[in-house]
Amino acid sequence: MSALTHLECSFCEKEYEADELHTLCPACGKPLLARYNLKRVGEEWSREDLAVRVASLWRYQEVLPVRHEENAISLGEGYTPLLRAERLGRKLKMRNLFIKDGSLNPTGSFKARGLCMAISRAKELGVSEVVIPSAGNAAGAMAAYAAKAGMKAHVFMP
Ligand SMILES: [Zn+2]
Repeated sequence: MSALTHLECSFCEKEYEADELHTLCPACGKPLLARYNLKRVGEEWSREDLAVRVASLWRYQEVLPVRHEENAISLGEGYTPLLRAERLGRKLKMRNLFIKDGSLNPTGSFKARGLCMAISRAKELGVSEVVIPSAGNAAGAMAAYAAKAGMKAHVFMP
């Protein structure tokens, strides 16, 4: 169950109701950030709980904005491998350097993670049509998740 509490402007810190549809901060035009009750999550979560959960980003449901599982639009995103980067690690004097391979996400990029969540939450809030400006990867991810959700998608590319 999501521990989402409210939205907060990334610039002016004004707070907004999390279960209403918003775009940018009405006061200053900057993006809104999802905020969570992390104290509650810390009290209720354990490493053992995570070990037996589904192998996708949905395993972190408490710190994701989707409140009801039926609104989770999934194409199998997340849980991509960490690759050891020994040579780069030596060059940077880092003994345990790993690189997350986001290319194994269903849309071929890490953008699948964010757009999966954005489309799922949009569905939960009753949205039927979405739009995005993109140079490529984000548009592909949004289109894929919107299609899965049955939403109309519009993409604007430079
Ligand atoms: Zn603001």
